[in-house]
Amino acid sequence: MKKLEQIYEGKAKKVYLTDNPDYVIVDYKDDATAFNGVKKGTIIGKGIVNNKVSNHFFKLLEAEGIPTHYVEEISDRETIVKKVEIVPVEVIVRNKAAGSFTKRMGVPEGSELLCTILEYSYKKDELGDPFINSYYVKALGLATDEEMAKIDEYALKVNDFLSAYLKTLGVELIDYKLEFGRFKGEIILADEISPDTCRFWDLDTGKKLDKDRFRQDLGEVEEAYQEIIKRLMGA
Ligand code: UDP
Repeated sequence: MKKLEQIYEGKAKKVYLTDNPDYVIVDYKDDATAFNGVKKGTIIGKGIVNNKVSNHFFKLLEAEGIPTHYVEEISDRETIVKKVEIVPVEVIVRNKAAGSFTKRMGVPEGSELLCTILEYSYKKDELGDPFINSYYVKALGLATDEEMAKIDEYALKVNDFLSAYLKTLGVELIDYKLEFGRFKGEIILADEISPDTCRFWDLDTGKKLDKDRFRQDLGEVEEAYQEIIKRLMGA
């Protein structure tokens, strides 16, 4: 497949057209941002880890019956994915309290939750991705009720599978963000699932193995990304 012109450059990825109109190529960068772009830096090797980790998860999730945008990994940093129309609703799944939830609700990090939480934010950088609910989604025409029912169903299925799978590797899945897209009329899982978009804690020690090491200046940032790829793929 031919890589054609770049159509998008985001904070962590570039996207290119291909000679197949149904497919694009994503190219993962080492650039890191946090707090809606206020904190900037580089995490060496991050692009490779995120590309490979995300593809690994997406292949497993496809086998579990969750449709994804994944097509084929073509290099350490590049993957062919289906060209979707992104639903502008970020879905956050929380298994334990962390991040913005602890601040908003005034509970300590790591607090147990009595059930898994599904939360939405409006994908709009200029507004700082504000918190929304299902009425906002409907009222603003961001997605239909039918689409949101599918999105919730897939998000919870992803959670059941990934939480159990990661536990076998000694990793606790604390929370994460998912994005979905429309492809030929269907809702499919898109974007990435990686240490940039998840909170992973070591099951035994509670050590953070994700982007919080960068956000909070905890050190050993590169090492944490490498630890995750090692646990998942044994590299
Ligand atoms: N998250 C993300 N992109 C965003 C916002 C959140 O990938 O734009 C992920 C984040 O890494 C964490 C989870 O979603 O795993 C929940 O994030 P939270 O709402 O607590 O916000 P944060 O503390 O990351 O600002």
